[in-house]
Amino acid sequence: MEKCNHDIIIVGAGLAGLRAAVAAAEVGNKLDIAVFSKHHPLRSHSVCAQGGTAAVMHEKDSFDLHAFDTVKGADYLADQDAVEFFVRRAPKEIVLTEHWGCPWSRTPDGKMNQRPFGGHTQPRACFAADMTGFHEMHAIYGKATTYSNIKFYDEWFVTSLIVENNTAIGLTAIEMTTGKLHAFTAKAIVMATGGHERIYEFTTFSHTTTGDGMAIAYRAGVPLEDMEFVQFHPTGLIPSGVLITEGARGEGGYLINANGERFMKRYAPERMELAPRDVISRAEQTEILEGRGLQGPYGPYIALNLTHLGEEKINERLPLIRDVAIKLGGVDPVKEPIPIRPAAHYSMGGIRINVKTETPIAGLYAAGECSCISVHGANRLGTNSTADCLVFGVVAGEEAARRALSTSLREVSKEKLLAEENRIAEILNREGSERISVIRDQMRRIMNEKVWIYRRGDQLESALKEIRELRKRFKDIKIEDKGKSFNTGFFSALQLDFMLELAEVTVASAIPRTESRGAHSRLDYPKRDDQNWLKHTLAYCTKDGPRLEYIPVTVTKWPPVARKY
Ligand SMILES: Cc1cc2nc3c(=O)[nH]c(=O)nc-3n(C[C@H](O)[C@H](O)[C@H](O)COP(=O)(O)OP(=O)(O)OC[C@H]3O[C@@H](n4cnc5c(N)ncnc54)[C@H](O)[C@@H]3O)c2cc1C
Repeated sequence: MEKCNHDIIIVGAGLAGLRAAVAAAEVGNKLDIAVFSKHHPLRSHSVCAQGGTAAVMHEKDSFDLHAFDTVKGADYLADQDAVEFFVRRAPKEIVLTEHWGCPWSRTPDGKMNQRPFGGHTQPRACFAADMTGFHEMHAIYGKATTYSNIKFYDEWFVTSLIVENNTAIGLTAIEMTTGKLHAFTAKAIVMATGGHERIYEFTTFSHTTTGDGMAIAYRAGVPLEDMEFVQFHPTGLIPSGVLITEGARGEGGYLINANGERFMKRYAPERMELAPRDVISRAEQTEILEGRGLQGPYGPYIALNLTHLGEEKINERLPLIRDVAIKLGGVDPVKEPIPIRPAAHYSMGGIRINVKTETPIAGLYAAGECSCISVHGANRLGTNSTADCLVFGVVAGEEAARRALSTSLREVSKEKLLAEENRIAEILNREGSERISVIRDQMRRIMNEKVWIYRRGDQLESALKEIRELRKRFKDIKIEDKGKSFNTGFFSALQLDFMLELAEVTVASAIPRTESRGAHSRLDYPKRDDQNWLKHTLAYCTKDGPRLEYIPVTVTKWPPVARKY
């Protein structure tokens, strides 16, 4: 196995990873920084972010308002110290990304334009039409490529972390063009590998969001926090699940059922279609379950109406949405409503970190969607994720740089590398009778049917049993292609292995939480239970499956009260 070293390794080149790289590079031009990505950085899911990035940018808004909206949206499970830090840092990121070339949309008098978004009581979403992530990513990637001390490892697949004496000292990665496994040592490592939404069947996320970094950190001994909280976005386009941004409702779009009724008036009379996502997704699911969905070739659905906005506004503010609806949904939103239903959209849970983005393993940091600080608690507000990636990407980059300047590299033991080499070779050589795609489809169906918006104890138990069965069957897969270069079948197997592990953690964390909070909605326990459950779940990896512990939520200014919209 070839060996190489860097001062800092960042795994992931989405918004969080790229922002961390730039922040680290700014700390010192002598630091040798590497950024790993399993595909080209501009193929990261961040490029798909549509509606906006939240930040307090005008006089009527305030940090306390943004923080309170976030805490209430989170159904009081967010750590309020982290939220307060987050809202204060977000505006600076908007200004910086603008300096680096992000074309933020403007008001006619040249000010930063901000659109309303679900759960935010002020128009707070800075946006670049409906392609916010695309423009942010291009601006930050452009900035990152100006530093000669940032080296990109594009199309390298990280397989494991090397941890000794509770310190992260390196990682292993496969160069996808050659299939060769390499070892890297580093003084600090930042995980920025994105979410795990692909454990579900109907999702807004890219095929690459398979949770690799969460599973890798979990296996290395870091707990995964609050994994039972998966966000369902109210408007996944039928049939693909591709997102129709909440910005469409922010611009005035509304939802109707089969009776032509704006049903949100029964669920969130004040905020209507701009209530938080958990509230609207539940409302849509209830409409469908009670027979008020419209009927289509792919089953019952809800209609999102934008026709009253007019062609000019749709073309200016929502050009991507129009294109997507025509090409992937067969409807032109200028002329008719868009068929949608809730889709798996965000992982509130992830690698446990503190406000400095440190994990419990020394030298290992995390930022972005793979992490849990927890700013988003039980339900994230729209536009808070890209802001979180930027704010905590900076913290991770700076903290990693500080550590790299004050520690030295450590030698990786030969046994550790041999063990990983053998593990990878064993998977590649599997000659069993199971097909990867069959197990993957079954996992996604189980998650969709039993670990969806409304959950029940008996269904969760049965899902856990079935996922564990699939994990056993995974041992008996057949890798048909044994080739070295871009062996996509083999990488699918590695990703499925990660996803099965995370599906198990998600379900196992959901079972004991006998309450309904944010995105975790239990039919058998319909009430929030602050007395017993105002706490975070931590899942630790053991050979018998996840072991759960609980830690308190940090409350600074806003004690929990009933959540109404
Ligand atoms: C369609 C859509 C629209 C959205 N719109 C918004 C919005 O308007 N506002 C908002 O705030 N949020 C939005 N979100 C959410 C937000 O975009 C994401 O949460 C955020 O961009 C995640 O960024 P990230 O940097 O954490 O990860 P990602 O952008 O997902 O990047 C992950 C990186 O990790 C790398 N990686 C993963 N595994 C490995 C491995 N094994 N080896 C090497 N590299 C690896 C990948 O190559 C990639 O570079 C949206 C999400 C979607 C899907």
